[in-house]
Amino acid sequence: MSGIVQVEPLTTARALRGPFDYLRPDGAGVGSVLVVPFGRRDVVGVVTGLADRSEHDAVAPRRVLDARLPPELVDLALWIAAEYCSTPARALSLLLPPKGTRAKTALWASRAGDPDGERLTDGQRALLAGLPRFAAGDLAALRRLEGRGLVRIEPRVVRRAPVHVSVGATRPRPELTSDQRAALAEVLAATPGERLLLHGVTGSGKTEVYLQAAAATLAAGRGVIVLVPEIALTPQIVARFAERFGDTVAVLHSKLSSGERHDEWARLRRGEARICVGPRSAVFAPMEDVGLVVVDEEHDASYKHEGDPRYDARLVAERRAATAGAVLVAGSATPRPESFHALRRLRLPARVDGRRLPPVEVVDMRDARRAVHPRTHEALVDARKAIVLLNRRGWSNFLTCRSCGQVWECPSCDVTLVMHRHDGLLACHHCGHREPVPERCCACGSVSIARHGTGTERLESELEGPVFRLDADIADPAAVLARFQAADSGVLVGTQMVAKGHDFPDVELGVVLDADATLRFPDFRSEERTFALVAQLAGRAGRGPRGGRVLVQTLTPDAPSIALAAGHDADGFLVGELERRRALRYPPFSTLIRVVCSSEAPGAALAAATAVKERLGAAGTPALGPAPLFRLRRRERAQVVVKAGNRAAAVAAVGAAVDATAAAREHRPASFSVDVDPQ
Ligand code: ADP
Ligand code: ZN
Ligand code: ZN
Repeated sequence: MSGIVQVEPLTTARALRGPFDYLRPDGAGVGSVLVVPFGRRDVVGVVTGLADRSEHDAVAPRRVLDARLPPELVDLALWIAAEYCSTPARALSLLLPPKGTRAKTALWASRAGDPDGERLTDGQRALLAGLPRFAAGDLAALRRLEGRGLVRIEPRVVRRAPVHVSVGATRPRPELTSDQRAALAEVLAATPGERLLLHGVTGSGKTEVYLQAAAATLAAGRGVIVLVPEIALTPQIVARFAERFGDTVAVLHSKLSSGERHDEWARLRRGEARICVGPRSAVFAPMEDVGLVVVDEEHDASYKHEGDPRYDARLVAERRAATAGAVLVAGSATPRPESFHALRRLRLPARVDGRRLPPVEVVDMRDARRAVHPRTHEALVDARKAIVLLNRRGWSNFLTCRSCGQVWECPSCDVTLVMHRHDGLLACHHCGHREPVPERCCACGSVSIARHGTGTERLESELEGPVFRLDADIADPAAVLARFQAADSGVLVGTQMVAKGHDFPDVELGVVLDADATLRFPDFRSEERTFALVAQLAGRAGRGPRGGRVLVQTLTPDAPSIALAAGHDADGFLVGELERRRALRYPPFSTLIRVVCSSEAPGAALAAATAVKERLGAAGTPALGPAPLFRLRRRERAQVVVKAGNRAAAVAAVGAAVDATAAAREHRPASFSVDVDPQ
């Protein structure tokens, strides 16, 4: 051993800040994963730096683990820790390969030595001739031949492959349209670190541009990362990459078995796979020399991670591309105002098949009596295949007693319980609490209980014909999508999951019920979300020879997000939305940071939030709030929000204010969560 390694122990404690010095084991460097003695325990740690000597009495690590992270990923994690007010340990934990798994091996037998002069039975000769194939029952016989030097038996690593490529099923690579050619040329000519927005209507051939840009990147000897929203809902894009590039593609996502994940991770790390396709976490693919990073459907909310560190994979992708000298391509039919503002725009204005986008009719629901307007009903009867979007799962939103007004609420959260009729349950959509559907009022005993509102489950039962439901209550979304695709006729009903990038050529009708549901949300992004939802659903209809149409039911037909989505005017929407945000100083013209304090102790959350706000004010960083939030999982909550021009300074100020408040005795009962760029 010579020199010192600086190790960040992977503990979750917020107060504990490394790195700590240890003696450097032979061959260890930045990215090495070690087991080190830490306090009275042994913990896993990652080497984040090297030094010649230490001011402390450094001790030796216990051992060096096999996995070794690329040093650039270690830097990326340290950046995430700072950018999102988290800790290095929590950010580094995102990089580690799946725990407790190893390579899988099988025995491999091959011929060795010369059998010609040997006395062998016919059975033994047949066995030798059949190698390397053999039956498990022949192993003993092979071991005897091994003893005579005629056979070599050794364990070999076998790959657990998550994607099965059907060779021969490959479609020919299409001739690009002139718009695609122009976009591809821009991607290939982009300077290292440049960020591009591929703004193309649904069906305009964005994926084909990614595929050909990936092929060119591989040909130049560099690697490719392709981020997609949830894999279960977008199997098509994974299949297209696998079909085009075969074993060069690794897929990383949480639904893989840990063995499969281990093998895909190792293939990337060894450089055997040079394209990684996966959701948000694939931005941490252990590859070297990445030349292209694609973020498909860049508007998708799943790119934001909900646990600490609350990173945004789109921003991490930009950072990774910038440091690796890679080109970043974000693609969407409904880009975020942030990307439209900051990235260089490439356009694919028309569908590849030359079809026009379907006409969108706005259905004014202000005097409607039922959840489904008669006009919508008629259109549904006429259409052979339709998609209906209703962003509310369950049967009814809430129950009330007709006699005394009792409302059924979650015992742990300040929200109403949603009825799920098939399961006979009332459920809290925030904490998972469940209870049986009441037969009578628990307050007055009345049996007259009213059910309010319509969710996807109720809609499913009310629509005619074959109905396919897709929402978070459905265990296997891919199977539902496959059944809908195979069906001759029917209606796909569900939450925003039905508006993701599916490509069904024969859908003639798209319907959005209650398009204002997202608009009613008190959030500066509600306009953007509503626009994206309507425009994305419109993109699912009318892809086939029979064309299509879209109906949007709304109580606010004049809201810009709805009217402009109906006119397929993404540019008009984005320009107007950016003006509004500039005037109100919302992102991208500022950075928002949200601090949520929570506690089971009454009043403690609000007191902690007040203290954070005061500390911020004293440090010259004004904050909005504190505002109470609804109680969640028995914890009261309160938040303060910082709207800042100088991002780095604000992140540092919030981090310091939260650390100081959390360390104060009187705020012990509270916990703190910091969200930079909250969604
Ligand atoms: P997007 O990603 O913009 O929704 P896709 O790349 O999925 O669009 O393209 C839509 C459909 O058109 C796909 O079935 C794709 O195979 C096909 N396609 C893409 N580019 C071409 C092309 N240049 N010529 C013919 N078909 C194409
Ligand atoms: Zn009652
Ligand atoms: Zn609850």
